[in-house]
Amino acid sequence: MTVKVALAGSTGSIGRQTLEVVAASGGRYEIVALAAGSNQAVLREQIKAHRPRVVAVVDDTVRATLASEFAAVQFTDNVADVVGDTNTDADVVVNAVVGFAGLPVTLETLRRGKRLALANKESLIAAGPIVQPLRTTKGAMIVPVDSEHCAVHQCLRASGSLDREIASLQLTASGGPFRGKTRSELASVDVASALAHPTWSMGPKITVDSSTLMNKGLEVIEAHELFGVGYDQIEVIVHPQSIIHSMATFTDGATIAQLSLPDMRLPIAYALAWPERFDVPFGALDWSSLRRLDFEPPDFETFRCLRLAYTAGRVGGSAPAWLSAANEVAVDAFLAGRIGWLQIAEVNDATLQHHDGAALASVDDVLAADGTARRIALGIVESFVHTAGTVSA
Ligand code: NDP
Ligand code: MG
Repeated sequence: MTVKVALAGSTGSIGRQTLEVVAASGGRYEIVALAAGSNQAVLREQIKAHRPRVVAVVDDTVRATLASEFAAVQFTDNVADVVGDTNTDADVVVNAVVGFAGLPVTLETLRRGKRLALANKESLIAAGPIVQPLRTTKGAMIVPVDSEHCAVHQCLRASGSLDREIASLQLTASGGPFRGKTRSELASVDVASALAHPTWSMGPKITVDSSTLMNKGLEVIEAHELFGVGYDQIEVIVHPQSIIHSMATFTDGATIAQLSLPDMRLPIAYALAWPERFDVPFGALDWSSLRRLDFEPPDFETFRCLRLAYTAGRVGGSAPAWLSAANEVAVDAFLAGRIGWLQIAEVNDATLQHHDGAALASVDDVLAADGTARRIALGIVESFVHTAGTVSA
């Protein structure tokens, strides 16, 4: 039977790779809905190729243009509309939107009791206390697309249990383009070098997050939310080859790891095919050429975002939402050339200093926390820009 797939964030890195998996499936999957921000040219080709019933577009002009070209498609400005009705429309929803904007898709998918193939970690991190109860909706399930969490999911599956007998999780990190560098060496790095990731090709936000290790910090919180493992039991290990995607250690001391090439089509295919396995081996290793796997501890002093994430995770409540929002503001400012690379961590840290300790009891609370943190973070960015202007003048 054909599996109906809704894909939010279709024009991005994960979105396009999801469509490659669908194309390789020999008709096993059918795209019923797409959502994107503003990339008109790519979205047009995707609509032509997949003929979805529903397309959500954030940009008004792009939506109007495409609506005039595809009369049979229902266009909407609400990204959550891709999820569709409870018993019809999509069987599985891939959330590949970047950032907090992915929240409505995560919430609506779980409310409708559907499987969520989750790449958009920011929604789970910002809204953990709201997302958790929705996971108990009949039929609702999160299958992680993030490679580390997909790896842990596979390790737990291999052990025969998704929630018992876990002693600790080991999340691996490539270390990013600045592994081994000191803070003084990183004081003047430019956007291009932060975007030059050694092992993964990804969208700009997560690539910058990988350079600061904020991505790994966010993944620590994501792992806590997904698997219910305490922060003291989640370790980060730098593994430059990105072959081991993460590990789980059990109460008897046994560690199970998942290994494959750094190719996101494997975790995407895993989340689409669950509980089966996809039969096109995108990530298969050539064991005759693999020679070594290296490991080292992360440098918390240089990559301060990693520690900030542990701190925000342990505080809980709205603190992860504040950190994730501040980080989106800081990364945007870095990509726009307004602040330096080291200042990303400074914006995040200074914003968290203002955290008001508010709990998250509703979606409105999440939106309020996100809005407040963004406002504070923007103010801090402006003060940095102003100070830099004064210094250079
Ligand atoms: P990209 O920047 O490549 O793509 C982001 C997608 O989100 C685009 O389709 C973009 O549309 C869309 N988008 C942006 N803003 C909105 C909005 N307000 N509403 C709806 N859609 C929007 O990101 P990635 O694919 O790299 O990452 C997507 C998510 O997956 C992130 O949360 C990331 O952390 C996670 N992830 C990514 C990995 C990777 O390898 N890339 C690995 C693991 C996790 P448009 O371009 O048309 O404006
Ligand atoms: Mg990851």
